[in-house]
Amino acid sequence: MSRIDKLARSNIRDLVPYSSARDEYSGSKGIFLDANENPFGKLNRYPDPHHTKLRKAISSFYNIPVENIFLGNGSDEAIDLLFRIFCVPGRDRALTFSPTYGMYEVSAAVNDVGMIKVPLDPAFDIDSGAVERHLKDSRLKLIFICSPNNPTSNSFSREKIISVIEKSSGIVAVDEAYIDFSINKSLVSLIGKYRNLVILRTFSKAWGAAGIRIGMVMGNPEIIDLLYKVKPPYNISTLNQKAALRRMKEPGKYKRQIESIKSEKIRLIAKLGRLGIVEKIFPSDSNFLLVKVKDADTIYNILTEKSIIVRNRNSVVPGCLRITVGKKKENDCLLNELKMIRL
Ligand code: PMP
Repeated sequence: MSRIDKLARSNIRDLVPYSSARDEYSGSKGIFLDANENPFGKLNRYPDPHHTKLRKAISSFYNIPVENIFLGNGSDEAIDLLFRIFCVPGRDRALTFSPTYGMYEVSAAVNDVGMIKVPLDPAFDIDSGAVERHLKDSRLKLIFICSPNNPTSNSFSREKIISVIEKSSGIVAVDEAYIDFSINKSLVSLIGKYRNLVILRTFSKAWGAAGIRIGMVMGNPEIIDLLYKVKPPYNISTLNQKAALRRMKEPGKYKRQIESIKSEKIRLIAKLGRLGIVEKIFPSDSNFLLVKVKDADTIYNILTEKSIIVRNRNSVVPGCLRITVGKKKENDCLLNELKMIRL
């Protein structure tokens, strides 16, 4: 039995997956009387359960073989599936850092998996010593590393991430939702070297398509096959698969938007830095800024009253607001309102 097979829950290993009509006959031409669909209309057919066309497009864009790619209904679905595949409820454990993206902990709780939260160091990087203490726990099956990290916005040290991957006997998921805005290199080139590594990506950020709910997992084919085995058969709608394909036909637009967000971020940092109410802007490697202000709750409320909605992270990182970089006009509105605040 392979290392990944051993890590998977035994009921998942033994699972006979649902076989859909489109699994049993995958041709595209013919008279289809096999799936109890309505013969009338344009959206009357079930979507492609294997996401064949979209995975091919993703494969050529990212230069990664199709068999290394899984598509979920947002990365949030992929996060949940990883718990369901690798963690026995009530027994196994997962590990992540704090503060980080909240869904890892919520998904752990939904699956009745204990979540170990290792505090980041004062520079918001991985505290290797603190993590390593947990890596010997044989019940630790899944680790989530969000880099660039939400809400701190920085990337973790590549060496520290690799050290966790090398020392972990479980699955390590590196969530690269914000990597397109980063100055650092993706870890995706390492999926061939480390069989326990998966990379999470999404159409929700740089691709500008949060509404279509498509997340990607890049990893070794054994893990990808398990994800396809467990997911609901028609997890991504026909409309959403088509919308993603259309989006991928405009790589120029994707690149221009990233450049525009990155240059607006530089402008925003410069202007925010001159405001008296801003105490600190944390280093950003994503499309948002973590900003320490004089009175986060008050400023948040004033902005909300003016219909400018930022994220109040005061309860997570004391004194901080998380500000997504918007269009130039939107950022100017934010700056104008902030300029007028006297505390
Ligand atoms: N990962 C991170 C780090 C995120 O911040 C978010 C959303 N804010 C997601 C994943 C969710 O991605 P998706 O929209 O693909 O579910």
